[in-house]
Amino acid sequence: MTSLNRRRFIGTTTALSVAASVGFHSSSAAEEKSTVNFALVGLGSLSTNQIAPALQKTKHAKLVGIVTGTPKKEKIWADKYGIQPQNIYSYDTYDKIVDNESIDVIYIVLPNGMHKEYTIRGANAGKHIFCEKPMANSSQDCRDMIAACNENKIKLGVGYRCQFEPHHLHCIELARSKKFGSLKAIEAGFGFKIGNPNQWRLKADLAGGGAMMDVGIYAINACRYLTGEEPIAVTAQETKTDPKKFAEVDETITWTMTMPSGVNCYCSTSYAFNGINRFNAYGDKGWFGLDPAFGYGGIKGRSSAESIEFDATDHFANEMDAFAKCILNNTETKVPGEEGLKDLLAIEAIYRSIQTNKKCEVATA
Ligand code: NAD
Repeated sequence: MTSLNRRRFIGTTTALSVAASVGFHSSSAAEEKSTVNFALVGLGSLSTNQIAPALQKTKHAKLVGIVTGTPKKEKIWADKYGIQPQNIYSYDTYDKIVDNESIDVIYIVLPNGMHKEYTIRGANAGKHIFCEKPMANSSQDCRDMIAACNENKIKLGVGYRCQFEPHHLHCIELARSKKFGSLKAIEAGFGFKIGNPNQWRLKADLAGGGAMMDVGIYAINACRYLTGEEPIAVTAQETKTDPKKFAEVDETITWTMTMPSGVNCYCSTSYAFNGINRFNAYGDKGWFGLDPAFGYGGIKGRSSAESIEFDATDHFANEMDAFAKCILNNTETKVPGEEGLKDLLAIEAIYRSIQTNKKCEVATA
């Protein structure tokens, strides 16, 4: 057996043992196990300030492991979260996670351009993968990630936290129930003023793009989940006021997307200023929307009939519990790799439209 085949074989058997341990094959095992064990890859801002604290609130997901390139973080995280030494990995020892039966899910929280490699390595180790948005730098990378996860028979989820948040879920329901009639238009935008000019978010290889990849994607995703449709064509234009800072990535983009039913979406994203963080959806009998819409908290909603109010929840705890339940019950996640791929297809069409100054069709998944 070649080392690659051996690794695949080990990966498959580990996937099966994980599957068995979380109840794929035995209803009594499913009753016994109600928690899925997570390891975080990349201990930067999001892992430190949102995901690890959220994992202290989850019912079905537990933080047991870390993968980090910074040795001094190992002790800090071990002391704070009780991570056992055998569940701590570096990027070099990451593949050894294949032998660790106490880790069920790997959550990739690295710069976008690293998602593909760490997803595929994690999938080949037989672990379920939860990957931050944007799923990858290109649609082809998304396809490769989906294929690796399918080949290893493990689940792949993408971190679209808003799809687990009550205001957003209510708005989806308003759209589906046609409470305000058939949707005719959506305006959506998300942006912020980015600081440090040396960060990875401004480097093409690590970020895949600028504001569009980082936060414009929330507007695309919202238009898709509000309509339940995939955009067929886009028009887009970019403005760049600081060509030095944004030499490698986009600064501000405005774009339109046409949905098959005829809904027109008017969207924007920017790294140049703060304030845009909303969507409004207009039907032929009224309208509804959220502003702010996409932050971790403080979401506020209004419609032509009433205000939209729900208690604050931890989006990250919600999304991880939902993914854990999919593993425990062997059901499909509503944010699979295909969901990440579809956003990348829209983003690629938007970039094509900017380059060609023409309306561009969105490729199909
Ligand atoms: P960050 O810069 O704070 O952390 C990145 C981590 O990756 C750090 O621990 C860093 O050490 C590590 N890393 C490894 N190799 C690196 C390299 N070559 N260059 C730079 N860093 C490297 O970033 P973040 O804000 O935690 O974002 C991580 C991911 O999470 C991104 O994909 C981002 O889009 C996503 N994110 C999602 C949300 C959300 O609301 N879902 C919010 C913020 C970030």
